[in-house]
Formats: sequence, C-alpha cells, structure tokens
Amino acid sequence: MSTAAQEFLRRAAEKTSDLQHRYTIRHGIDSYETAHNKGKARFSDWQAARDRCAQIKAEALSKLDQYLLQFEDTVKSRGGHVFWASNSEEARNYVLDVAKRNNVQRVIKSKSMVTEEIHLNPLLEKNGLEVWETDLGEYIVQLRNEPPYHIVTPAMHLSRGDIAKLFQEKIGGVTSDDPSQLVALARHKLRQAFFAGQMGISGANFLVADAGMVAVNTNEGNGRLCTSLPRIHVVMAGIEKVIPRLQDLATLWPVLATAGTGQHLTTYCTLVGGAKRPGEVDGPEEFHVVLLDNGRTELLADTEQRDVLRCIRCGACLNACPIFRNVGGHTYGTTYQGPIGSVLTPHLRGINEFNHLSFASSLCGACTEVCPVRIDLHHHLLQNRRNAVQSGARPWSERMAFRIWRWAMLSAGRFRLFGWLARMVMRAVRALGLTGTALDPMRKWTKYRVPPDVPERSFRQMWKEQYAH
Ligand code: SF4
Repeated sequence: MSTAAQEFLRRAAEKTSDLQHRYTIRHGIDSYETAHNKGKARFSDWQAARDRCAQIKAEALSKLDQYLLQFEDTVKSRGGHVFWASNSEEARNYVLDVAKRNNVQRVIKSKSMVTEEIHLNPLLEKNGLEVWETDLGEYIVQLRNEPPYHIVTPAMHLSRGDIAKLFQEKIGGVTSDDPSQLVALARHKLRQAFFAGQMGISGANFLVADAGMVAVNTNEGNGRLCTSLPRIHVVMAGIEKVIPRLQDLATLWPVLATAGTGQHLTTYCTLVGGAKRPGEVDGPEEFHVVLLDNGRTELLADTEQRDVLRCIRCGACLNACPIFRNVGGHTYGTTYQGPIGSVLTPHLRGINEFNHLSFASSLCGACTEVCPVRIDLHHHLLQNRRNAVQSGARPWSERMAFRIWRWAMLSAGRFRLFGWLARMVMRAVRALGLTGTALDPMRKWTKYRVPPDVPERSFRQMWKEQYAH
C-alpha cells in the first residue's frame, strides 16, 4: 500500500469518529444544498443549462490548441505576456523570475487552486517574499498553516468559534465570535496588504479565447483588488480553462454560481483584459498569464476520460459525496478533493501512489447527478479502479482475494461451501467475543461497528423451505 493510501486510511478513521468535525461540515454543506436547490429553481430549465455548459466545454476541448493560441494572440496584441508551463516547476520558476526581476517583496493572492497544485507559496516564501492570501477562507487556512479544505470553501471545517480563537491568537482584538466582527478584523488587516502588494496573483475561472480576457469570480471583491492594485498581475490557469466565446459566460457564470454556492451569480464577476493602456489610470503595468499543462494534455489524449477536463471547479460533487461528508477534505491529502479529486489526482500525480482514492467511493453516482458539466464521475472512478488493477498497482493480497472470490462464484457448489464457511467463522468470532480485537478477522469493520447477526441458515435454505414443494 502506498504511503498516501496509508495516510488516507489513518486520517479517514480519525475523522469519521470525530463527531464535532462531522457536525461542522454537515452544517456547512446542508446550508449550501438548500441554497443550491433554490438556485436551480430560478432556471427555466436547469437540465438544459447543464447540457449547454457541457457542450461549451466539450467544444473547447475538441479544439483546445486553436482556442489557446487565439487567447494567446489576443493577450499579446495588448502587450501581455503568456508563458506555457509544461509542469509545476516551470510555472513556479516563471513567477519567481518575474518577481525577482521587478524587486517584488510582497505578493497578494486571490483564490487559485492551480497555485495550490504547483505549491507556489512555499517557493516564494523560501525566496524571502511575503505572500498574503486575500480570500477570507484562504486567509484563515493560511493563518492555520493548512491547505484549503474544499475547492470552493477552504475553511468549511471551522466553526466561527474556531475562527475567533485563531484570530485572537494571530491578530488580536477579538471580543466575540460574531461573524461581522471577525470579517471586519480580517478586512482591516487585508486592506494593509492590498495597498502594500507589489504583485497580484489570481486564478482564472475561464480564459475567453475570442476576447483574450480572463474571467475571475469572487464573492469578496478581493479578486478585483489583486488584479488592479499591484504593479504586476500574474494569472495562473490550467490549459483546460479556455472557452471559445465571451457570450458563453452568459450560461457558464450563472451555472457555476448556482452549482457552487446556490447564488444566482457570484458577487463579483470580473473580466481582465491586460495591463493598463496609455491614458488609463487604473490597472497593473505588467500582465502575465501562465498556462499550466502538468499532465492535462495526457488526460486530453485519453478519449475515455477526457471529459474530466470540463470541470469548472464548482465543488458540487464534493458536497454531494457521502465519503467527503464523512472523511472531510484534508483526509484526501491532495489539492483537489472529493470525487473530482479522486478521478483527477491519479492522472496528475500517478496511479501507483493515488489509485486508492478511486476506491474511496460507494459509486452511488450522487456526484455525476449534480455535476453541472455532466462529467460521468462515478464511471471514471470505476475506470480508474480497472486501470489500477491492470497496471498492477493493487496489492497482491487483494488480487488473490478476488481470484478466489471469482472461482467461488462460478460454481453453485463452491458458492454454498463458501457461504457455510463464512457463517461458521463469523459465529466463532462472535461466540469467542473476539470482535474489536486483533484476532477479529473483520477488525477494521467491527472496531467502529456492531457486526451483523449471523443467520442460522442460508438464503437458499430459507427459500427452499418456504417455496419448494
Ligand atoms: S466535477 Fe463537476 S461537480 Fe465536481 S467540481 Fe468539477 S464541475 Fe463541479
């Protein structure tokens, strides 16, 4: 078993028995779900809107090279810089280089999962730069020295009491856990960072090919401040973020907001076109876009799973997933959590180390049901499992167990024998009181659960007695 898999199991066991943690995230997710259902009702046809979004993203992926080049040309025609990064290292080094060339000391960041994916902050900080996360949730987890817990709501696992305690320790001046007071404190602190920031780094919700513009959605306005106040603005985006036309945002923006948080539209929907032009007062002097591949072109070449690149990172599949709701975001140990993370991470970070995530699913299909761009998530999880088995990434004991199981299932006599043996073993375990001990063959189950009663007779025997004449 890989180290990542062992860590996943350890954290999952810890979190599923932490009732306070489960209560906090369920409370958060339930309120999102209520808003999400109300939001869907505002559409005259929510299913048609999902179809349209899936079509737009599929069209973009079918001509990804053309749309990216179109985007690049337009950005460059306005004086912007576009850098193609094939991996995390190239992307990180490019940003560091821009910062060094411009003597940047202080960086302000708007929410960006790609910067988490490439671990940008540690490199900048190692090189003496001060980095400020300005999205409130990101700011909170940065103060805790933690990665984001959820791709949309990074501090979902914290109650307002937790946040008040954290602010008191790190900022001071907290007199209650009243959310408006906590927000005012964070705002006061972040305002200083906004005015002192020399470089702003943002993500991109969409890259608009025909307009050469970057769409950034935030609820706090921090995105606009990061993209317009500092001298330099750097956009970090995965190559799959490109969409063909500006008018596509008319569908994508409301669908993204509704699927993610139940809002009609995100509070601030911003389009950034580049550096300020002669005569303009506002805006950065330099504008850079880093287009990150990092395994995405390989996924694009995989015709079976290419549609994973349609993801608009709304977070709906995380909220719907019964596994995520119990183990929580940090248990995954990955940048992208929940069903989309379990599908995507083996492609980005290797199937040997991360195939276990595809097994952390009941395959109930709730994720596929909610995905606004109709990614067939639970079937992709199944395909990842198949790929893991075929590539030999699963342990030999598991492969052997399934071989024996298959052998038993292919004969009625062997099936009966195995059923009888299993009942005998379970009876012995219960009779000897071995449940929950090291001798219990089902220890992993019975440590947290009451083992089921063992029936006296098999289903086949009961059926015969009742119906066979
Ligand atoms: S896979 Fe679908 S539901 Fe999940 S984050 Fe991406 S777009 Fe949203």
